[in-house]
Amino acid sequence: MKYELVSGFETHVELATATKIFCGCTTAFGGEPNTHCCPVCTGQPGALPVLNKKAVEFAIRAGLATHCEINTVTHLDRKNYCYPDLPKAYQISQFDKPLCEHGYVELESGKKIRILRIHIEEDAGKLVHERGFTLIDYNRGGVPLIEIVSEPDISSPEEAREYVEKLQLIMRYIGVSDCKMQEGSMRCDVNISLRPEGSEKLGTRTEIKNMNSIAHIEKAMRYEYGRQAEILSGGGKVEQATMRFDETTGETSVMRTKEDAQDYRYFPEPDILTVNIPQSEVDRIKNSLPELPLEKLRRYIDVLHLNAQNARLIYKYKAACDWFEEAVAAGASPKNTLNLIVGTVFSRLDTEEDKEKFDVGISGAQAAELIKLLDGGKINATLAQMTLAKMLETGDGVEKFISAEDMRGMDDGELTRLCKEAIAANPQAVADYKAGKEKAIFALYGYLKRATQGKADVQKATEIIKSLI
Ligand SMILES: [Zn+2]
Repeated sequence: MKYELVSGFETHVELATATKIFCGCTTAFGGEPNTHCCPVCTGQPGALPVLNKKAVEFAIRAGLATHCEINTVTHLDRKNYCYPDLPKAYQISQFDKPLCEHGYVELESGKKIRILRIHIEEDAGKLVHERGFTLIDYNRGGVPLIEIVSEPDISSPEEAREYVEKLQLIMRYIGVSDCKMQEGSMRCDVNISLRPEGSEKLGTRTEIKNMNSIAHIEKAMRYEYGRQAEILSGGGKVEQATMRFDETTGETSVMRTKEDAQDYRYFPEPDILTVNIPQSEVDRIKNSLPELPLEKLRRYIDVLHLNAQNARLIYKYKAACDWFEEAVAAGASPKNTLNLIVGTVFSRLDTEEDKEKFDVGISGAQAAELIKLLDGGKINATLAQMTLAKMLETGDGVEKFISAEDMRGMDDGELTRLCKEAIAANPQAVADYKAGKEKAIFALYGYLKRATQGKADVQKATEIIKSLI
């Protein structure tokens, strides 16, 4: 029998507020253990929590960006459990009245992964196991989180990857979280069940806890699909359980059989008042949202007619898109601007983080002054690339590098003379080209590029060289 994969995600996202959700302690990552703490976030007797307004605002932003309805009257609840990472023995969370409900995240195919709810809660501390001891660091305790609960609409590991990537992008675009999975500011619990293909009834699910990499999520889902399929096709029953994924073996194993929600004995948090959010505040937040990633990608491809592959390379980085749009607003053509970003600017930015920041030394408007010369045929692409590289290096404007003389380009007679020179200087490359090696001609471009500081028009030079040899 063929089985269909059914998966829903619970995704925890740390909100990028400066301070914790119920006290004034910093949310900065790392730091000496137990230095970002106070009586409130370590649950000392008599300490009272005060809800961080910014955390609520960020959660509403996240809700609106995922098309949720906002519950403008809401409250917090205590989720009782006893574990050393949580000194109060309860977590302040939301139970029956989450801040946001009934949204969705759209995939590129147009499929919508529905969002059941988004609620706010506090993060717990971190247990560190070393040398036979377990140490506790409460720095993370009280960092504001949102938990984004999806409906079981994900039907493959590939869809899971896209869902997580899209969520990450949305949260970064709207500035509520950096969503760094490796630092734990985004982590996923993955629910998986199988059902016979065509069946509507949901099977028994297992939950793989605390996944912190997209690659691991895909692997774990594939493994868990195989495990459950084997049980089911052997006539057995999948037991509802919480699982752990072992990164080294690539296998899932049972941590504990599943507890149900009522085990937590949720009850309304008595120390925090009902939260009343004016509709005008929700409207203000809604109006402040930027264009969302998928809308932007579609606009780049469908309206600006950009090369889809290049558009995909840039839309992941909001700051790069802002720079691109600034150049275009200043009159540069979208196509040439994007080509220069992908070909010249990105090659100078080594890490994802660098691309994320896109701190390149010149503004999009400054780049536009150069790109407009390229658009108007005053300079060729090679010279534009070389000049942009110099501008990025120095932070200087285009006038520093391109003179009126450069802009006249090179007349055909001069170019022909240089092509002859290039041919004479590279007999081997010419012989190779004649013998059928198309690529040998690149050696001649190299010569021309050096001899003209990039001013030679490559296309014209190709025609001349080919006619000469
Ligand atoms: Zn604190």
